[in-house]
Amino acid sequence: MSILRAVKGMNDVLPEDIPRWRRIEGLFWDTVARYGYGEVRTPVVEPTPLFVRSIGEATDIVEKEMYTFVDKGNDTLTLRPEGTASAVRAYLEHSVGGREPVTKWAYLGPMFRRERPARGRYRQFWQAGAEVFGDPGPYTDAEMIDMIVSMMRRLGVADVEVLVNSLGSGDTRARYLEALVRYLEPHEASLSEDSRRRLRTNPLRVLDSKAADDRAIAAAAPRILDYLGDEDRAHFDGLCATLEALGTPYRVEPTLVRGLDYYSRTLFEVVGHGGELGAQNTLCGGGRYDGLVEALGGAATPGLGFAIGLERLLLVMGAGETAPALDVFVVYRPGLEREASTLLKALRDGGLRADADLRGGSLKSQFRRADKSGARLGLVIGPDEVERAAVTVKDLRGGEQETLPRDGLVPRLAERLARETA
Ligand code: ATP
Ligand code: MG
Repeated sequence: MSILRAVKGMNDVLPEDIPRWRRIEGLFWDTVARYGYGEVRTPVVEPTPLFVRSIGEATDIVEKEMYTFVDKGNDTLTLRPEGTASAVRAYLEHSVGGREPVTKWAYLGPMFRRERPARGRYRQFWQAGAEVFGDPGPYTDAEMIDMIVSMMRRLGVADVEVLVNSLGSGDTRARYLEALVRYLEPHEASLSEDSRRRLRTNPLRVLDSKAADDRAIAAAAPRILDYLGDEDRAHFDGLCATLEALGTPYRVEPTLVRGLDYYSRTLFEVVGHGGELGAQNTLCGGGRYDGLVEALGGAATPGLGFAIGLERLLLVMGAGETAPALDVFVVYRPGLEREASTLLKALRDGGLRADADLRGGSLKSQFRRADKSGARLGLVIGPDEVERAAVTVKDLRGGEQETLPRDGLVPRLAERLARETA
């Protein structure tokens, strides 16, 4: 019988890869805590209209990528393709805006999009992100970008580039869209099918198309930065000036547009170079969505957020050092299983990471497993040790060994291991 496989584009993470994941997750939580964010956890499944209304009908995500299904109660549900919509829903559902003027939330978890899998592009992937509700910016926008760059630096991902743009708001957007459509219409016949349709439904999205012909046309399109009204301009200048004050390198990229409909004003991407990143080199996308909370039924509330793709970060962060998973490995003469079990329990209760091969077997095969385990110390129990109420402690790297009394053994080993790893 053939074995069952995971769904295409969805990955297992095995224990040997976990240390690198933990490092990213630990650094993310440590970083957002330094900036005053609290963690939010929302369900992985939401009512489909939440994503349709927030991300927008004429987007790749909603048109092609959502995992949507009807459950046994006839509700239409979707596996979340991103985190912002759920955060806004939770913010409104729990009336958070009525309790505090500014809300800073961070999240980390799996997202689902039915895309064509490639390196750095999966159907289940992990995002770490954050949202700020109630702060119109631009200082928080700059602070958020700086926070992301700091985190990447601490991870050892130095070669990143920050691209910023403004999508303006209200009037700016209306005037720009008019100019954009006027520019695109004569090129209509050369546009991809998706872009031809979006020219009518959501012309800004034509600029975000990945089709080569579309890109060439988009490159020469009018630039939204040239259309910014006074307030949008002041906001963008404030963002750039604050980034400069913080010493965060950035580049203004006037062609930057992102896939979600709800962005306004500040837009940014963090792009990585090198490592094993291929074509999928956008590590992080984010921006301002001042209209979204209202669009989902709340009071007008400015919003700002970003999401980092963790698999892509893994591809650029390098191997790093990995600590072995065990401190000690217990090796025992067959027949002494009970002694081995009680010693293991004492070691674990004493805070040490300990294991043994409880299938028994020859000392030789147990030592082979001890060596493979990466443990620093091997603890040997034989009849002599049992008689003397002692344990032989063997350094699995150096080879030297000594016999120590069982009494007081665990704190003694804990101290020794702490000293050696200090
Ligand atoms: P792309 O242009 O690569 O499709 P996107 O604009 O769809 O990205 P966002 O929705 O802004 O991406 O998501 C933020 C980040 O999440 C991306 O920069 C990327 O790092 C990561 N990401 C998005 N889609 C995937 C995916 N299918 N697999 C892995 N990571 C992804
Ligand atoms: Mg995408």
